[in-house]
Amino acid sequence: MDGVEVFPAGEKGRGLRTTKQMKTGEVVFTESSYAAVVFDSIFMHVCHSCFRRQVNPHRCAQCKFAHYCDRTCQRAAWEEHKHECAAIRQKGKAPNENVRLVARALWRTQKHKGKVFDTQLTTLDLLEDHISSMSPEDLEQLKKDVDNFQDYWKGNKKQYSTDYVSHIFGVINCNAFTMSDQRGIQAVGVGLFPNLCLVNHDCWPNCTVILNHGSQTALDTALHSQRRIELRALENIPEGVELTVSYVDFLNLSKDRQKLLKKQYYFDCKCEHCSGGIKDELMMAVKETDGKKPSAELVKEVMDFSVEALAKIEQARVEGNFHEVVKICRECLKKQEPVLAETNLYLLRVFKVISEVLSYQQSFQEAAEFARRMVEGYRKLYHSNNAQLGMATMRAGVTHWHAGLIEAAHGLICKAYAILMVTHGPHHPITKDLEAMRSQTEMELRMFKENEHVYHSMREAAFSNKPMTARLLKSN
Ligand SMILES: [Zn+2]
Ligand SMILES: [Zn+2]
Ligand SMILES: [Zn+2]
Repeated sequence: MDGVEVFPAGEKGRGLRTTKQMKTGEVVFTESSYAAVVFDSIFMHVCHSCFRRQVNPHRCAQCKFAHYCDRTCQRAAWEEHKHECAAIRQKGKAPNENVRLVARALWRTQKHKGKVFDTQLTTLDLLEDHISSMSPEDLEQLKKDVDNFQDYWKGNKKQYSTDYVSHIFGVINCNAFTMSDQRGIQAVGVGLFPNLCLVNHDCWPNCTVILNHGSQTALDTALHSQRRIELRALENIPEGVELTVSYVDFLNLSKDRQKLLKKQYYFDCKCEHCSGGIKDELMMAVKETDGKKPSAELVKEVMDFSVEALAKIEQARVEGNFHEVVKICRECLKKQEPVLAETNLYLLRVFKVISEVLSYQQSFQEAAEFARRMVEGYRKLYHSNNAQLGMATMRAGVTHWHAGLIEAAHGLICKAYAILMVTHGPHHPITKDLEAMRSQTEMELRMFKENEHVYHSMREAAFSNKPMTARLLKSN
């Protein structure tokens, strides 16, 4: 691989570092999936080859489990599906996604004797499994998965020891990468990318990972279903510097990020932001009025209230009771707004939910105001090229556009576009959508400045024919 090398990164084990300078937005490397599977929960709605969501996919006639866009996808996937197809038929049903992923990885390893790509810097055997750090509950789950795997695998000639299979499950447990659909909006499956596994975590990373499915229309099966990730530089990275990505959302207090990382990835984060508690104060900041802060008791009361309210909001959201979600959000904001600062995490979490739900209910004016305040808070907390910041800014822009606030909409869409050019690159479908929206809002803004009346009638016509913006408003 050009421009990167493996190096011993101290306590973190192996890591990757640059051997030349990388520029902001540069693709550090790309990698195709070693193995990937669609989630159990949506196996009937996503193509098992290209991971596109499909309304009425074509089903594998033999196992009745795998689904595809069409014959082209089915043909492209046969090589990785044929053993799986036989195993599912023999067992009578498909095992869970973890078992399917391990089996796919092992069929691939067998076929290629461990190294699938010339550019592969490591093998599954060499990756860390962290089994020794697992909790008793995790170990119990691991044992169940391994047993299910052995049962699923028994029709194969080559058999593996329980220790070896456990190792592969351990590797997947802390290294698997969640794969989104073709537009990067919904998580649809999970995959394994060995080189990416070598990139260590930092809460304030210098790189980001993005899935780019490539050409979905290519009829040539070799080009068709490239489930490819890109590691992209978020800033200028000098030669000899370690490459890092973040495994968790930065919008948590450092102690909470550390807890999440310990639980899922079994390490203590000692990154600069965690060690220094950088931005923790802003995330918990309270409102000052005339140089006076609210009393400690009042702050505690509001924080406790927020924690409870956010749990209730989540519950109502899961139940699809959006009316209730908005009601609790409003009650919560009434308590929070006089006490918490605009960068406070609890306030931002409520802004996020209420702006999404109001958008969904087409109350765009009010949704836009909450989205604007949310993005302003985010901008003070996130790295300026953070992908989540880019996506949130894009949604806020679309909401403003629907609300008829064209000037603000265009401004937000331009900001989002600048971020996504770095995090997603110019060829990603979302960046292309944004580019189209940027020109459209630019034109509308010009018209608005010339003649407000004409602008409003044109806008109505445009929105009656715009499924794209509705889709982009959905967060997951
Ligand atoms: Zn497909
Ligand atoms: Zn099949
Ligand atoms: Zn950290």
